[in-house]
Amino acid sequence: MDVKKIYMDANALLEGHFKLSSGNHSQFYLQSAKVLEDPKNAKVLAEGVAQQIQASGLEVDTICAPALGGLIAGFALATALDKRSIFAERVDKIMTIRRGFEIAKGERVIICEDIITTGGSAMEAANAIEEMGGIVVGFAALANRGFCHRENSDIKKKPNCKLPEDVPFFALDDFTFEMYAPSDCPLCKEGKSEAIKPGSRGN
Ligand code: ZN
Repeated sequence: MDVKKIYMDANALLEGHFKLSSGNHSQFYLQSAKVLEDPKNAKVLAEGVAQQIQASGLEVDTICAPALGGLIAGFALATALDKRSIFAERVDKIMTIRRGFEIAKGERVIICEDIITTGGSAMEAANAIEEMGGIVVGFAALANRGFCHRENSDIKKKPNCKLPEDVPFFALDDFTFEMYAPSDCPLCKEGKSEAIKPGSRGN
């Protein structure tokens, strides 16, 4: 599967001059939600992740997605695996399992995002699951931003990755691209454009 082509064809992989949520600048931006505008993409991508999980032999009961970013990917992955689909959401900034979702003691849960950058939200959802007695047996995303190590990739875990090393992380591809501190940004130095901030915190 050519994952990058699917993202580019959906205008989900943007080229320009972007300010990331970290404050750094980049020539590329992943607008992950765009690729899921077409439900067929969600289905194909999630089925690819599901195949990796099935091939690993990992047993799972439930997929939990951190809202909002992970909702569609999590639902699509749960559909592909024929498992329960739930989500975590922030209440007063704390990632929480609510809406009547229950977790049995020892229930095996995969946390699913659309994309994993450092895995911060995914870890918060994982902690919420484990506080309720569940076991987080894996992490999943349609794409990996390249800071964390996913199964079947040579890319090593970077210091800012928050995912644990002893839990597998499944994703289809690595989307690595250069990021610059604003003072070092070659696009800023060109002076032709200002960094814009797309995504959930910008628009
Ligand atoms: Zn810049």
